[in-house]
Amino acid sequence: MAVPKKKTSKSRRDMRRSHHALTNVVGAECPNCGEPKLPHHVCSACGHYDGREVVVQAEA
Ligand SMILES: [Zn+2]
Repeated sequence: MAVPKKKTSKSRRDMRRSHHALTNVVGAECPNCGEPKLPHHVCSACGHYDGREVVVQAEA
């Protein structure tokens, strides 16, 4: 079994983890309602995707 030859220093360990807490940057907005949404995801505000309503929202 592979065993590490050198102990990973706190610096290297923490540098490796430095980007683990990054949050997803919103990269798209819904063309239907303009709300920010995740790319390739159905809009959580109006349920539209690819120009049509995919998820029918319950009327408030
Ligand atoms: Zn929308």
